Amino acid sequence: MHYDAIIIGAGMSGLAAGIRLAMFDKKVVVLERHYVWGGLNSFYQYKGHQFDVGLHAMTNYAVKGARGLPLSRLLKQLRIRHDELDLHQQGFSSVSFPGEKLKFSNDFNLLRDEVARAFPHQVDGFDKLAKAVREFNELDLDAPQQDARPVVRRFITEPLLEDMIFCPLMFYGSAREHDMDWDQFVVMFKSIFFEGFARPQQGVRHVLKLLIDRYRKAGGELRLKAGVARILNSNGRAAGIELENGEQLTAEAVLSSAGLVETSRLCSAGSQPAQAVGAPPTAPVGKLSFTETISVLDKPARELGIEETIIFFSNRQRFAYEQPQDDVDTSSGVICMPGNFSLPQEPKDHLLRITNIANFDRWIAKARSAGSQPATGAGTLPAPAVGEAPTACAGEAPALRDYYAAKQRWYEQSCADVLGHIADFRSHVKLVDMFTPRTIRHYTGHEAGAVYGSPRKLRTGQTGIDGLYIIGTDQGFLGIIGAALSGISMANRWVLQRDGAAVEA
Ligand SMILES: Cc1cc2nc3c(=O)[nH]c(=O)nc-3n(C[C@H](O)[C@H](O)[C@H](O)COP(=O)(O)OP(=O)(O)OC[C@H]3O[C@@H](n4cnc5c(N)ncnc54)[C@H](O)[C@@H]3O)c2cc1C
Repeated sequence: MHYDAIIIGAGMSGLAAGIRLAMFDKKVVVLERHYVWGGLNSFYQYKGHQFDVGLHAMTNYAVKGARGLPLSRLLKQLRIRHDELDLHQQGFSSVSFPGEKLKFSNDFNLLRDEVARAFPHQVDGFDKLAKAVREFNELDLDAPQQDARPVVRRFITEPLLEDMIFCPLMFYGSAREHDMDWDQFVVMFKSIFFEGFARPQQGVRHVLKLLIDRYRKAGGELRLKAGVARILNSNGRAAGIELENGEQLTAEAVLSSAGLVETSRLCSAGSQPAQAVGAPPTAPVGKLSFTETISVLDKPARELGIEETIIFFSNRQRFAYEQPQDDVDTSSGVICMPGNFSLPQEPKDHLLRITNIANFDRWIAKARSAGSQPATGAGTLPAPAVGEAPTACAGEAPALRDYYAAKQRWYEQSCADVLGHIADFRSHVKLVDMFTPRTIRHYTGHEAGAVYGSPRKLRTGQTGIDGLYIIGTDQGFLGIIGAALSGISMANRWVLQRDGAAVEA
């Protein structure tokens, strides 16, 4: 079968690219290894409860009718009406460090006022930083790479404030340890502090349904349980793919959301010599992976005195965004209360989610030593509530019990280490779940469960192999809106504009 374009991966970037191409009558197929679409932004059921895998909030909120913002561009390009997304804004969120807290909301003035209150001698610098961010064109894909911290230090001289600014931006979008690329800093600053957070009442499944319906209506083809085993080459050009079942499909262009390292492997897989195919530039495997604990409470978090929608916290004055030596670093993280968005209806489940940085190798080693593999993905934590003995692993192999015991131990540690920032919720937990870096690898296929992919990004999407382009996380645009816009812009640039279609920017 021959296509105008083959897209690897039915995550946000793949689906958005697919819609865009199908809208212009391109013959396009999205190939997804899993039996369900959504990538990292998927959802699942556990003990009768609905959980999102990767959604805390949609960043980049824009009010209806706003022009020129990422969300407005996305809606325009995919021909989705603002109302259809059913977005509800956050109340307010905060960055909470020892001895200092900065509140922020979708009105940037709140953060500005908070900086003026807590760091009066820094507020002029903060204003200048905000101006520099506002004026920087992050869409200039050819801009030279520079580190963010030296730029930020030109404006902010107080290390605590510097780390408090970096903390949310890194947790929601840095593939690098310790620092970010300046253009990535700008993308994240605008998406979190200038634009802000919102969420559909029904969470990510609502967004995914919208995208999949739009894709099918436009005539796109989606194949699930269709893992790509290798990228085919013809005279040094990407000519198509071979599926894990051996079937071959050919195309004029291949757009891959599998990640840079992973796409590179697909080029050199199988019998073909890597040199003959050519290979995308070598890229380091990302080191940053997460655990996520999900507690179902017996009442809304608000009734326990927890008002924020999201809290980015550190228990140390200097915040360390790096791969931990231990299984998990619970000294910093993100606490999300999805029920604290301004939703029209109280959600059925009162959730409290905590994200921490985790060490992929250590979790994989535990799983391996378990001999019989623990279930992959979420929905695997056996302990029903803090303080109760694990039950679901009764009768399992001892090593497997150790794996689950580690999850239980880290769940408890993670909850204990947020108590400097929120009220003690632990006696109100009626069900828990937890996922580890293995889950992230499972949902994304990313090596080492690297949530934000490789630290090396290919901003133009070009791999050096004609006809093969990177979209999504490793093009450098992250999160739900960022990944979707990445798919759209790469589809426009490398398929539609190449074919001479008149494409609105
Ligand atoms: C805990 C957590 C919370 C998050 N919270 C938020 C949030 O609140 N807001 C937000 O905006 N973002 C959030 N994110 C980030 C967001 O989920 C990602 O940035 C975004 O989903 C990336 O989309 P993508 O299309 O680039 O890649 P992915 O979602 O990784 O999709 C890639 C797809 O490709 C498929 N694939 C890979 N290899 C192959 C192959 N060989 N053959 C076939 N298919 C293949 C994978 O199965 C996957 O479906 C969060 C992430 C995590 C881990």
